[in-house]
Amino acid sequence: MENCIFCDIASKILPKEFLYEDNELMAFTDIKPLAPVHILIVPKEHIASINSLKESHKNLIGNMFLLAKEMAKDYEISEGYKITFNTGRKGGQLIDHLHLHLMGGWKEDQ
Ligand code: 5GP
Ligand code: ZN
Repeated sequence: MENCIFCDIASKILPKEFLYEDNELMAFTDIKPLAPVHILIVPKEHIASINSLKESHKNLIGNMFLLAKEMAKDYEISEGYKITFNTGRKGGQLIDHLHLHLMGGWKEDQ
């Protein structure tokens, strides 16, 4: 998709240090972290938002949650974290390419 920053990252037009990468997913630190650990888990395929999900994406979505769980363990936030899919402008979505926010690492209860 043209003019999509996450597609540019997926196709390596924009350099980005990946915390995780496989054929379908990539993960990197949010540029403006809202938590001590704030990771974005992003499919390489351009999917605009949760609203654009199809039956064929079931496996992909499952893999995003499983990766979030694994990365929460790797980054030592398993004790407590938030997973968010902002959806639509009114839901706080600024980048129209599906991404899961994995946030944690706070010292206090949230
Ligand atoms: P949204 O508001 O769409 O749910 O989240 C987009 C997120 O992407 C924001 O938290 C923002 O800080 C992050 N972001 C925007 N541009 C970049 C970028 O170029 N690199 C990285 N790592 N994160 C970005
Ligand atoms: Zn895209």
